[in-house]
Amino acid sequence: MENNLKTAVWIAHSLFERGKATGSSANMSFKEKDHIYITGSGTCFGTLKEEDFSVLALDGTWVSGPKPSKEFPLHRMMYEKSEEIQAVIHTHSFYATLWSCMEHENKTDCIPEYTPYLKMKLGTVGLVPYGKPGSEALFAAFEKCVAKSDGFLLANHGPVVGGKNLLDAFYCLEELEESARLACKIEGSQRQPVFRKITE
Ligand code: ZN
Repeated sequence: MENNLKTAVWIAHSLFERGKATGSSANMSFKEKDHIYITGSGTCFGTLKEEDFSVLALDGTWVSGPKPSKEFPLHRMMYEKSEEIQAVIHTHSFYATLWSCMEHENKTDCIPEYTPYLKMKLGTVGLVPYGKPGSEALFAAFEKCVAKSDGFLLANHGPVVGGKNLLDAFYCLEELEESARLACKIEGSQRQPVFRKITE
């Protein structure tokens, strides 16, 4: 556990320092035996400490630590998707979020394959219909998509990825962001942005 916490803090600081996680918007979790460790509500990746993790039972029952991130249900559904998923990261990284604000025909694999690395590392990336952050609508939309793709872009919001451990989830997230960046540079000007009322 100590190693997982150390790795999680390193990942958070690394993402923040390179502008891939900003403010208090990102959250991260990992599974450890019968518990899920998830960043506390409102924590900042730039200053994240080991004690900022909330400890929950697999069903979400609080065990110890601060109040968990309100996006916990997204993490729980990723763990229920596959036993192989042992860590989950969600951010609002710029290019993945920019790509999530555009129209995409293929809802189960929405990032074009200009380089082979995203498919090699993560696989397909589904586009989850918009729902207000932390809302039942978002969780219901995510539940419908979670079995159909490997990683996800929440529309007009940001990426959610899992991995077989924390570093694997981190590498998948980085690959998703870089692939979205390429896609934005190559195709972005040809695509229509989609505006959604944020009060929905
Ligand atoms: Zn978010």
